[in-house]
Amino acid sequence: MPKDKDNADIDALAAALAPILSAPCDRAIRLTGGDPGEVIVTIHPYGIEVQVFTVEWRDPGHPVVVGEPFAALLVSNYPDTSALLDAARKAIADARAKRLETYRLCEHCGRMKPPEWMHDDRTCQGCAERDFGVVY
Ligand SMILES: [Zn+2]
Repeated sequence: MPKDKDNADIDALAAALAPILSAPCDRAIRLTGGDPGEVIVTIHPYGIEVQVFTVEWRDPGHPVVVGEPFAALLVSNYPDTSALLDAARKAIADARAKRLETYRLCEHCGRMKPPEWMHDDRTCQGCAERDFGVVY
């Protein structure tokens, strides 16, 4: 199994783990674009699912990525792969725009931050810790 220092061979891992799971095993591939995340794309044999990247704080210190459903593109609805990919490109661009609309400007550091990094509507968590002594 080829492996560099920090990255495993995803296909080899999936092939090794799939037989352990209960059948049927959906061999989906999940891609997350952006850092912080913007869009989650899951490629299934039957289609492409596009989600807006969102985070929920279920308790302090434990953010959980929860994709907000945005588009479900079924292979059967498109005449060919090219048409499916065109629809996916548009859905990804629209989902990314929706995610970026949720970013807020921190009035203290002047940077745009995703909502999960904001302390409140005007201050990011980094500035809240540094300037106001907030402890997360
Ligand atoms: Zn800030």
